[in-house]
Amino acid sequence: MKKLILFAMFFISVIASAIADTNPKNIIILFADGTTISQYEFGRYSSSLLRHQPFAITDAVMARGQYQQMKTESANYFVTDSAAAASAMSTGYKVDNGAISVTPENQSPPTLMKLAKDSGKKIGLLSTAPIYDASPAAFSVHAKSRQDSEVIVSQYLELLPDVIMGGGSNYFLPNSIAGGKRQDGKNVIEALQAKGYQYINTPEQLQNINSSKLLGLFADEDLDYEIDRNQQETPSFSLMVKTALKALNKDSQKNQNKGFVLFAENENTDSAGHNNDAAALMRDLWAFDDAVKVALEFQKQNPDTLVIVTGDHETGGFSPTYGRKNLSPSGKANYLNVGLEQLKQIEGYKISLKEFSEKFREKARQTKSNAELNAYLDTLLQDNFPGLVLDDDLREKILTQGQLGPNSNYLPANILGLAIARQTGFYWASSGHTPAPITVAAIGPGSQLFKGFDENTAFAVKLRQLIGQK
Ligand SMILES: [Zn+2]
Repeated sequence: MKKLILFAMFFISVIASAIADTNPKNIIILFADGTTISQYEFGRYSSSLLRHQPFAITDAVMARGQYQQMKTESANYFVTDSAAAASAMSTGYKVDNGAISVTPENQSPPTLMKLAKDSGKKIGLLSTAPIYDASPAAFSVHAKSRQDSEVIVSQYLELLPDVIMGGGSNYFLPNSIAGGKRQDGKNVIEALQAKGYQYINTPEQLQNINSSKLLGLFADEDLDYEIDRNQQETPSFSLMVKTALKALNKDSQKNQNKGFVLFAENENTDSAGHNNDAAALMRDLWAFDDAVKVALEFQKQNPDTLVIVTGDHETGGFSPTYGRKNLSPSGKANYLNVGLEQLKQIEGYKISLKEFSEKFREKARQTKSNAELNAYLDTLLQDNFPGLVLDDDLREKILTQGQLGPNSNYLPANILGLAIARQTGFYWASSGHTPAPITVAAIGPGSQLFKGFDENTAFAVKLRQLIGQK
């Protein structure tokens, strides 16, 4: 198996060196966790009908650039997790689910960001998740488990990415401070400030960046979904990307400047899949696409920039489809298809299913009265999901906090997700990941490499080629 991978890597690198005529100076990797072509198509269709805007991923990057599909199985399973997928894309080696760029043989091959830094490039890590989460971690450092948050942040202090931005301040602070979780007593925010980093934690501070070394932490853990986002507290994904590009590009005119690699992840597209939340997914696909537009604008000003749009695995088996409205006989009056009317319905939803779940569970903890809980559920639905009708079987499951099925792990979100599907056609197959191949779309110098169908490990080989490392 290992020999086979090495041979495949050699073969791909031979092809890569033949094709990559000019290497890009800058590489922007825009990473929508949990997405592939079915999500992008939903983004394109909804963006066109509701926003009256082109969707840059499909309409610009895929239409004018290149795209490919890649296989995602991990070293031990058909269905990968984020850690194993990102490790393969970063190091070129398949690892077990849960591992952060550490192979089953306990080897730690160099990560993409480490190699980029070694070749003189600036590097940036950005995520709406805690910045020590599986994907940014596997692209830059090593850990036996994705849960080793403290170890991961400690390694950031050694690697020193020029830009670190996202959620997850808890593992930057000692547990002696409110909100801090570090056992070793270190204050990593202060340690980075001592090394010349500008530290920011509010959206408006993003407007006043005066350093090329930037630490931005906007939440203890995850940043909110776009649909739930409070603009005063949490910056948009595109504003974070814009600011990261500004910081990374600050010294671009200086001699010897070798450009940068930015890894920017929207994690909320994955969480929306886990929760079977079509409305939250739609808003975060649009938010992600706004950042793709920022990257394309940057590319216009800096043509020696490669823009890559990709993800790690599909989440939720997202499958809008047609069917009957209910169990009455089929026929024209009982036929449901997905179109503008259904899009408008989910566009009217005001909160994510995660937020719904948290509010409902909180109320369920406070009251013992079924009638009171039932009334609260109705208010919650009327206020936040206008027009949504909850069938009796699903209402019963929510009220009794029952299971929907063995692979529904996000409750009661998945139950309300099914109610929405019955009414709008936005169905889901699972609350987990699926092995659907992942789209890599690329535009700019070096984009010719992203063609055909190969392993996610080939992504690492191609990127290494593009940054001038073997
Ligand atoms: Zn993922």
